[in-house]
Amino acid sequence: MDFKKLKRKDTKRFIKVGDTVIGDGLTIIAGPCAVESEEQIYFSAKRLKELGINIIRGGIFKPRTSPHSFQGLGLDGLKYLDTVKKELGVYIVSEVMDPRDIDSMFPFVDIFQIGSRNMQNFSLLKEVGRAKKPVLLKRGMASTIREWLLAAEYIAEEGNLDIILCERGIRTFENYTRNTLDLSSVPIVKELTFLPIIVDPSHGTGLKSLILPMSKASIACGSDGLMIEVHPDPKRALSDGRQSLNFEEFEKVLVEIKDFYKSLEEFKNHSLL
Ligand code: PEP
Ligand code: MN
Repeated sequence: MDFKKLKRKDTKRFIKVGDTVIGDGLTIIAGPCAVESEEQIYFSAKRLKELGINIIRGGIFKPRTSPHSFQGLGLDGLKYLDTVKKELGVYIVSEVMDPRDIDSMFPFVDIFQIGSRNMQNFSLLKEVGRAKKPVLLKRGMASTIREWLLAAEYIAEEGNLDIILCERGIRTFENYTRNTLDLSSVPIVKELTFLPIIVDPSHGTGLKSLILPMSKASIACGSDGLMIEVHPDPKRALSDGRQSLNFEEFEKVLVEIKDFYKSLEEFKNHSLL
């Protein structure tokens, strides 16, 4: 493939986010699709932290199909992220949609998310490439793996190698699910690059009931982590409620995911003996 910076080398890239390391073990990121209010994000982050989640997701800019849908709180949401970060000591992933917002978001966000719709927004990619902060690059919903890795290459070209790839499903003729979760990208990305890759089964399927089985499948094929949407009251969520788990559901899924990961690790160690 015609990329240079990210070509597979022996050294896998470990990405430090505060005192956690992405690429080492299984990283689970969780949180609501969008930051909706101070109470909603604070309560969510607090419950998730109690469950051992250190990286919280929550968009303040939402790329919505309709301009009439909730667009996110915008920069007003930053003060809520700040409270959550300072009071709970968690790390934040949030989507940046416009290069002009990078500076304002910089102090409050630990990982800049580039959403599926912006995967080939080259000026945005170059700008986060100059920012000294990890980037979570989601796969474009109609992008090939080559296009996705070349998008990552744009970020790397600017000097930022702290890129976490995120498989979030692609659009196919199948429409029972919201997207078709292409898990073959996980081993392919690992074959071709040294970057960590995580899977987002929430957007990848659009269906709550598929989050657990697809999380297990992601782990089985080598994913470094998962990103899962969790909302205190999914029915009332302002975006993506249908695919969001409530805390009780998430806790159950989390226990099973961890058990599955542990048994797989034990199996790998056993087969090495
Ligand atoms: C999101 O993470 O809420 C989101 C909008 O994801 P994607 O860009 O994958 O659709
Ligand atoms: Mn969402």
